[in-house]
Amino acid sequence: MTRKIAIYGKGGIGKSTTQQNTAAALAYFFGKKVLIHGCDPKADCTRLILGGKPQETVLDTIREYGEEALTVDRVVKTGFGGIKCVESGGPEPGVGCAGRGVITAINLMEEFGAYSDDLDFVFFDVLGDVVCGGFAMPVREGKAQEIYIVASGEMMALYAANNICRGMIKYAEQSGVRLGGIICNSRNVDGEKELMTEFCAKIGTQMLHYIPRDNIVQKAEFNRQTVTQFDPECNQAQEYKELARKIIENDMFVIPRPMSMDEMENLVVKYGLLN
Ligand code: ADP
Ligand code: MG
Repeated sequence: MTRKIAIYGKGGIGKSTTQQNTAAALAYFFGKKVLIHGCDPKADCTRLILGGKPQETVLDTIREYGEEALTVDRVVKTGFGGIKCVESGGPEPGVGCAGRGVITAINLMEEFGAYSDDLDFVFFDVLGDVVCGGFAMPVREGKAQEIYIVASGEMMALYAANNICRGMIKYAEQSGVRLGGIICNSRNVDGEKELMTEFCAKIGTQMLHYIPRDNIVQKAEFNRQTVTQFDPECNQAQEYKELARKIIENDMFVIPRPMSMDEMENLVVKYGLLN
């Protein structure tokens, strides 16, 4: 069975980086078949996998050539490790709703059978701090069964993670979607691991893995590669391999219990994040 997973988190927190590096590890170290569906209007969710190959987005194709012109071959490109990549794209800036675009693109890919049964994993990389029905759609309509949130020990990242939980519990009962854990993408904040562990316990989930901050991520990115492709032996590649293994073996799926604003404030004060 194909596991459909949505990755959420505050903009700039490292969703696309973490998600592509994890996908690369799943393919390279574990031989998994993966598809990444980028749901960010920036359409930058798959470039490390495609090595900078230009990617025509679903919405661009429809806008320029009409819906008849849309085929799976046209918008789904294969990159490192045989990973398939598709980008929703966005509306013209200032015109139309990006959230609607996500809905259109996912529905069309479903209709076309792009999420085929031979895939082990489909990942949706979703712009997370936008409180908009369109971006909630992968969760709301049960397009994804599992959510992972990328966060760090910074206040805004924790607030965003908590808000994403508040958004998802609205739909969890009806759609069956569950939180599989928080991925801590480190910002080297003091006490980050402890803070994140406490935050996870409070909302009833686990810190699935702690990814260190490492310049090799940028080095690989400069070459339009994941670290696994750039240097599969390096420490950072081993971290993504470990995260990939934990995702494969994960059996903790919950409906989270988001914290109240008061509880959030207390946590923030306890760890001195206001200083
Ligand atoms: P998002 O998709 O959440 O908006 P990105 O994945 O684009 O964020 O990440 C933003 C930047 O942070 C990237 O350019 C990447 O180089 C950097 N980055 C992310 N994770 C790490 C890490 N673990 N170590 C070093 N740099 C990182
Ligand atoms: Mg991104």
